[in-house]
Amino acid sequence: MDLGLRGHVALVLGSSSGIGHACALELAREGARVMLCARDEERLRRAAASLHEAGIEPAYVKTQVADVTQADAIAALPKRAYAAFGKVDILVTNAGGPKAGRFEELTPEDFEASVQLNLMSAIRATRAFIPRMVEQGWGRIVHLTSVSIRQPIDDLTVSNTVRSAFLGFTRSLATEYARHNVLVHNVCPGYTRTERLRHLEEHLSQTRGCTAAEVRAEWETMIPAGRLAAPEEIAGLVAFLCSERASYLTGTTICVDGGLARGIP
Ligand code: NDP
Repeated sequence: MDLGLRGHVALVLGSSSGIGHACALELAREGARVMLCARDEERLRRAAASLHEAGIEPAYVKTQVADVTQADAIAALPKRAYAAFGKVDILVTNAGGPKAGRFEELTPEDFEASVQLNLMSAIRATRAFIPRMVEQGWGRIVHLTSVSIRQPIDDLTVSNTVRSAFLGFTRSLATEYARHNVLVHNVCPGYTRTERLRHLEEHLSQTRGCTAAEVRAEWETMIPAGRLAAPEEIAGLVAFLCSERASYLTGTTICVDGGLARGIP
């Protein structure tokens, strides 16, 4: 299936590793020009190099250092992206994960930090890019959140709390912008093999006094598919939602979780 992404430009936040990186690669494989964004310049450089090694033309890949918790860094992104590629049609919001822990281990500041990192970053980036999408009559926005939006996860109280805000945010955007052909979605990964998950494994093995392998085995038992996701399995859905093939779809919240979330949406 041709996703019709050739000629489009995508900005993927938090894309030097993990799920964000897989999304950038998948969009580029489908013919989009991509701008990768994260805080660490060297990791970004390596991420861009890995796209080149995967066969993506170097001219199709740009990088931009930005800390998405900083309002001015996000405000500067459109100018940089338009200078590099002339436009941005696709915005994928993403960042690092919130602090893990049960409520008794957390402070109000941990929640506040995640509001900035995981929620306000997406709101600010949407605010920065949506006017031009409206002007050009074509836009796709995908917020990468978490399966915790549908099914709270033990020991991830901050994520369970902050992610839910995307249900209302994305639905509101979808209603307001569909007539402008700007379509908005939440994609919610389940347990996915990335650096973030390795840190979570270590955190839980320490707090529970077991091995990382035991933590992983427990997750795999809970997941109907019986295994963790590969980042590319999340990226495939993101690329589809950003494509011409998803032109009459907006406001969805889709878990890519191997069947983990049991609730009926
Ligand atoms: P990774 O840690 O592998 O990647 C996170 C990416 O975001 C990196 O490129 C990192 O680069 C960048 N990043 C982190 N903080 C910032 C910041 N302040 N500004 C800009 N970029 C930033 O994480 P994952 O890919 O695993 O996770 C991505 C998101 O998906 C997280 O929010 C996570 O909670 C969520 N998620 C992950 C799941 C999983 O199982 N992996 C499951 C459910 C949700 P740098 O540090 O250089 O800035």
